Amino acid sequence: MLYQYGSAAFGPNPDNMNVITAFAALVQPEASGSLHLSSSDYRVNPLIDSNYYGSPSDLAVELYAYKRLLSILRCDVLKPVVLSEVYPGRNVTSDADVKAALLQGAQSFHHALGSVPLGKVLDSSFRVKGLEDSRAIDSSAIPLPPTCHLQSSVYALAELAANILKQEERYNGTNLTHLIFNQFQIINWLQSQNAIFASSPPV
Ligand SMILES: Cc1cc2nc3c(=O)[nH]c(=O)nc-3n(C[C@H](O)[C@H](O)[C@H](O)COP(=O)(O)OP(=O)(O)OC[C@H]3O[C@@H](n4cnc5c(N)ncnc54)[C@H](O)[C@@H]3O)c2cc1C
Repeated sequence: MLYQYGSAAFGPNPDNMNVITAFAALVQPEASGSLHLSSSDYRVNPLIDSNYYGSPSDLAVELYAYKRLLSILRCDVLKPVVLSEVYPGRNVTSDADVKAALLQGAQSFHHALGSVPLGKVLDSSFRVKGLEDSRAIDSSAIPLPPTCHLQSSVYALAELAANILKQEERYNGTNLTHLIFNQFQIINWLQSQNAIFASSPPV
């Protein structure tokens, strides 16, 4: 779980009032989503199912974390500064009501990853298995969600891949002209090859 807060409302800011928005985010869900190609025409969007709360334990963990968050924000120590609660509201206390509030208010962090994961679709040099000189180097290559926001992991992955590519170029004279640098391009490319594959989780 990732607990985080922002010093602005995730919605209209009430007038003349300081606001914090606190949230509890499930960054490593148990349920996987899926991404499938729907056509050999690269202009047709792929089918993406994010499958949020696809596992009962994902929802149970989120409920536990959200209740903890509410208990912190509602504790006696914070009462002098937390003057009112915009969402879900202090009257929301039972498990059923808290669950309904989190399902209604839940948003995605947009940490999609793993549509062509290392190990499953890519080899350890980021090459698409079975193809020559076609690689995917971006969040689509990350096989499992890290316990953080994704951008730093994408940078680390790119650094790792750049070192592998530089070494290959130096020692093997590899032709690097066919690199595919993001998941949109690899999807486009695979669709143009009429390939259909299943993937691990967009999160
Ligand atoms: C709303 C939002 C908020 C986020 N907030 C955070 C945050 O606070 N912290 C954090 O760490 N992460 C955050 N993330 C996640 C992070 O931005 C992504 O994980 C990261 O950018 C993924 O990098 P990428 O290179 O895989 O893909 P992208 O950054 O999406 O890069 C894909 C690139 O491909 C280009 N492209 C698309 N189609 C084509 C095509 N047909 N041909 C050529 N190029 C194409 C796009 O223009 C884009 O530049 C957020 C994501 C979103 C959507």
